[in-house]
Amino acid sequence: MSVKVDVLTMPLFINGKWESAASGEWFDVNNPATGEVIAKAAKGTAEDVDRAVMAARAAFDQAEWREMNPKDRSKVMYAIAHQIIEHAEELAYLECVSSGGTIRRISSNDILQMADLFQTFGKFVLEYPFSETLPVPPFPGPAHNFIWREPVGVCAAITPWNMPMLIASWKIAPALAMGNTIVIKPASYTPLSTLKLAEIISKVVPPGVINVVTGPGAETGEALVRHPIVDKVAFTGSTEVGRNIMKLAADTVKNTTLELGGKSPNILLEDADLSLALPGSLFGVFLHSGQLCESGTRLFVHESMHDEVVEGLVQLAKNIKPGNPLDPASDMGPLISKQQKDTVLSYIRSGLEEGAELVCGGKEMSVPGCEGGSFIEPTIFTNVTNDMKIAREEIFGPVLCVIKYTSMDEVIAMANDTIYGLAAGVWTRDVNKAYEAARKLQAGVVWINDWHMLRNDAPFGGYKQSGIGREMGKHSLDAYTQVKHVHTSMVTDLHKRNWYGILFSEKAETRGEK
Ligand code: NAD
Repeated sequence: MSVKVDVLTMPLFINGKWESAASGEWFDVNNPATGEVIAKAAKGTAEDVDRAVMAARAAFDQAEWREMNPKDRSKVMYAIAHQIIEHAEELAYLECVSSGGTIRRISSNDILQMADLFQTFGKFVLEYPFSETLPVPPFPGPAHNFIWREPVGVCAAITPWNMPMLIASWKIAPALAMGNTIVIKPASYTPLSTLKLAEIISKVVPPGVINVVTGPGAETGEALVRHPIVDKVAFTGSTEVGRNIMKLAADTVKNTTLELGGKSPNILLEDADLSLALPGSLFGVFLHSGQLCESGTRLFVHESMHDEVVEGLVQLAKNIKPGNPLDPASDMGPLISKQQKDTVLSYIRSGLEEGAELVCGGKEMSVPGCEGGSFIEPTIFTNVTNDMKIAREEIFGPVLCVIKYTSMDEVIAMANDTIYGLAAGVWTRDVNKAYEAARKLQAGVVWINDWHMLRNDAPFGGYKQSGIGREMGKHSLDAYTQVKHVHTSMVTDLHKRNWYGILFSEKAETRGEK
């Protein structure tokens, strides 16, 4: 199938309109499956970031949006879900040709998850405790006390290239549900679907509520994080850049949430049902060519079953067919770039140098019709030890490391011996052992007999250096709200305000009494 497409021109999306960048410059967006240029995106600068932030601020200052009642806001969330379904084909296409994700995954999973996400948040809005009354306190005197939850203000969202639309939605949905406005800076490899998403969302929200500024992370992204009018930063990307974002946000003490990298442990207990565990473990690591933050990249196998497991994994892995992601028959797409391919190949070399045994794949491959793309065979290493570079660092490619263990205590210790803590998994028929492992694993999500199962109503995020805060689920709403305590005193007689005596220790006259 040919993947040649017309070259699109994608300007910035600010205040409900398409706008050129102040620099007048554009950058190329390539199809990672072919290397062809498919679009020119505007190269935003700090000046463009400022325009977008000020538009978002002006939209936030409008009571019409900020103080919309929950019923109407819920309707907006459902209207966004409707827009996503109505534009599903175009969104899926743009996501596929820029991120290299397979059309089979994007159309059967991502689009539906996004629509469901906005519907889920449409329900959350109706149930959210925007205002709570506290019980009347016995001391220091009768009072009415409220807790109000208010939007934070202008939110900045900085997103990666691996699942750009879905990850942007994880930030847009809670931000808009709570009455904030947002400026998004997508990764330069994949700005197209996010720009389209903003355009269709803007059909059902006031101008300025959603804005997108494209451009290099070090310039456009940093300008957004530094901007004094931005109240909150939600970042998804590498742990390295996340550390930098946190430092930059500290200058203006911004509310910051981070979704970062992972090196997730997947544990096969001796009693695991291998007919599920083997395809499940490969699903856990090779989906999207291993370019998912919560991939199960370290597979811990009990020594008693090691050889049988490895043989089964290799057989199954050989049946996974990388191909043109636009072809519904393709199981895996390309890596995002030649640079990413080179990084993955250098990790494969490092595994060999450190003594790991390559039992499957390990090479780049050519896909007919996609000769300009960067494809790597599904790769499996055995004889990996937990201290090797391939077991410690995030590779972000189709590479599985099989590590032997002998006891439950040993495997839990190895699983947790990482700076990351995004996801973990355990395969067993024994529910007690499963829960014991789940309790001990230091990760934001633990899958039992499964992988990659995220729910829009369940929180997702990392322990340790995999991040701060949670996305999805009701927990995510708290990061997009300010909490205000409002106190109204019911004590109208000055004499009964004994606590004023803490300051006015002398006679009543000094308190202003006649
Ligand atoms: P990245 O950190 O290189 O870039 C992420 C975003 O940050 C991009 O938009 C980029 O332009 C921007 N950026 C880069 N430098 C910046 C700077 N100095 N200031 C502000 N913004 C800057 O990550 P990536 O390569 O796009 O994505 C892959 C990484 O993302 C992996 O580490 C993966 O684990 C992680 N990830 C995490 C999650 C999660 O939910 N935890 C989900 C997907 C991806």
